[in-house]
Amino acid sequence: MELYNLKHVSERVNFSQALQLGLGKDRGLFFPSQIPKLDDMDAILALPFVARCKTILGAWLSDELGQNQVDMLVEQAFNFSLPLTRVDDNRACLELFHGPTLAFKDFGARFMAQCISALAEDKRLTILTATSGDTGAAVADAFFGLDKVQVVVLYPKGKISLLQEKMFTTLGENIHTIAVESDFDACQELVKQSFEDNELRQTLGLNSANSINISRLLAQICYYFEAVAQVRQYSDKDIVVSVPSGNFGNLTAGLFAKAMGLPIARFIAATNSNDTVPRYLVNGQWVPHTTVATLSNAMDVSEPSNWPRVEAICAAMGWPLSVISGVMVDEVQTAASLTSLASLGYQSEPHASIAAQGLVTLKEHETGIFLGTAHPAKFKDVVDSILGTDLALPQALRAVEAKTILSRPLAADFGLLKSHLLQKLA
Ligand SMILES: *Cc1c(COP(=O)(O)O)cnc(C)c1O
Repeated sequence: MELYNLKHVSERVNFSQALQLGLGKDRGLFFPSQIPKLDDMDAILALPFVARCKTILGAWLSDELGQNQVDMLVEQAFNFSLPLTRVDDNRACLELFHGPTLAFKDFGARFMAQCISALAEDKRLTILTATSGDTGAAVADAFFGLDKVQVVVLYPKGKISLLQEKMFTTLGENIHTIAVESDFDACQELVKQSFEDNELRQTLGLNSANSINISRLLAQICYYFEAVAQVRQYSDKDIVVSVPSGNFGNLTAGLFAKAMGLPIARFIAATNSNDTVPRYLVNGQWVPHTTVATLSNAMDVSEPSNWPRVEAICAAMGWPLSVISGVMVDEVQTAASLTSLASLGYQSEPHASIAAQGLVTLKEHETGIFLGTAHPAKFKDVVDSILGTDLALPQALRAVEAKTILSRPLAADFGLLKSHLLQKLA
């Protein structure tokens, strides 16, 4: 697999390099030189999930890693179910939250961790990542106990739910967590600055685990195929997928799936009030506002890092940007959508509720899928207060509830972060 830097087209790397570098020169994103196309889509959709994932990821990676290694990575990473649950005649939720940390981030994080452990030579490695809630848990869980690898997770202090926080700040050992006194965009900025700092990068062997890491995006392509395979069992209408979007990794993966030949007619980019993209899709002006805190906190992102990849895919495929419709769903509508899903007998949570609401624009000839990105119990406080319920916690959450948070608070200042990391990890 060959990739190039979207900012410096002449910088070319292979998958293994992109995996370990994260970003290219000048923070450029790596983008595949070629998007493989799959023939005989019917046969591919007929395969069981894991076998299908081997084919999909093999199309990208087998030239570099060999199909046997791809098969092994897939088997170790994808070991949980992803049911498509119909909520009414025209809408179904692809539930991506049945992995170990109860959010769709498990797909990308587990595959990435497998790739990194398999491909990193015996050098020291520090995974540095920012989280708006769920990445931290997924990455920490995927790497926990791998003693060759240290993990540092930055998250915005007080801006994620207590249960989310407990899922990754209570692990200890090789998992180091820092509560940054600011918002997610500031955390992302600190990660980017760290990568630009040669001393940090080299001393610690920094590696990114954000959705900018190409391995995570490749893994996420797989579940779009599963969504289509399951929808085709009850509908032959045009398929529309509504993606609850924050940093736009999820939507990027969906576009890669479509580019590989998967029959998805169009996408809906559903955001909360942090609506840089929906506004941009209407007026062509990229004007991020200050990030505001919402009920769907994992989507509180106003400068989504993956956006250049979205545009690059559309450009490479000759698609107009209108293959994506932006929908902004505010707090009142989020609660209303959650309530309406509950009245249909479907227990959801704020992020998926936003995606479900995004499907209001569905036409007669279309059938809609919205992505269920987190388990409702992960947002128990919000869900209970809106619906008047008392959700039972699944085992993965009950286990962390009583544990102590081990994170260290830190001002959003690169100098402070750098000295802390060097002192703690060098
Ligand atoms: C991360 C996350 C999102 C946003 O996904 P992106 O790939 O960043 O757009 C949506 N919902 C939940 C629950 C998340 O954890």
